[in-house]
Amino acid sequence: MATVINNSDWQSSGQIIENIIKEAGKKHICPKCGKEDVPCEITLNGVKRIVYASNCDCYEKEQKAKEEQKRKEWLQEKFKNANIGKRYIDITLDKLEAMGTENIAAAKKYVADFNPESGASIHMIGEFGNGKTSEGYAIIKALLPKFNCVSITWNEIVTRCYYAKAFDASETIDQILKWLSQFDLIMIDEFVINIKDDKEINLATALFDNLYKDNKCFILINNPCDIVDMKKVPRLGKLLDRVKDQAEIFTFKHESYRGVKNA
Ligand SMILES: [Zn+2]
Repeated sequence: MATVINNSDWQSSGQIIENIIKEAGKKHICPKCGKEDVPCEITLNGVKRIVYASNCDCYEKEQKAKEEQKRKEWLQEKFKNANIGKRYIDITLDKLEAMGTENIAAAKKYVADFNPESGASIHMIGEFGNGKTSEGYAIIKALLPKFNCVSITWNEIVTRCYYAKAFDASETIDQILKWLSQFDLIMIDEFVINIKDDKEINLATALFDNLYKDNKCFILINNPCDIVDMKKVPRLGKLLDRVKDQAEIFTFKHESYRGVKNA
């Protein structure tokens, strides 16, 4: 049976305003700072009334802090999804610049101009330990508030595609490639394809076909000798030619920073 709502159940808008004014007419004490509300005189329908307004900004501050906390948690989640190692959590482009890491100006420009639809990519090439990975993470960190980025090593991709089946048999290579393609920027560290393994070569070709097809932005990190090796395989040589067309090369010539404090 339908519920009957009587007219008397409804308040006229005048009554609603009256209730609001009545509530505002009560004096409160801020539970945070103990300040009393201050009285203000208003005129409603020609009648002067006293209402109380808060005398502090505790409420606003609290709301702001809550929002800030929410944003922090959201960013933390993004950091987690981006797979940023704890070791790199505090790295920024400015800090790396102060340490003398190469290509920082170009990295900052890349961040400033970043457009996930553009396919703009970076190929970082240099010897082990001269700041390539740190710079890649710093780029990701700078982009994370606005974009979704992920960092993964080539080895991790291979492991997930071919050896992780024991953990989750339902995950197929296609799904993993699809998962990767949801990110605006994909950083592949230690991009070293085992040139003796056809499976890895097939996977690399499939991955880069996808990236190319979707005009994805990526950062590849390599040691020069690995590139020489990969170029020996015609299919990988082709893949690297394509990377060369799409990616700006950042060359790292400095010696290793590892073990040099504040270098
Ligand atoms: Zn207060």
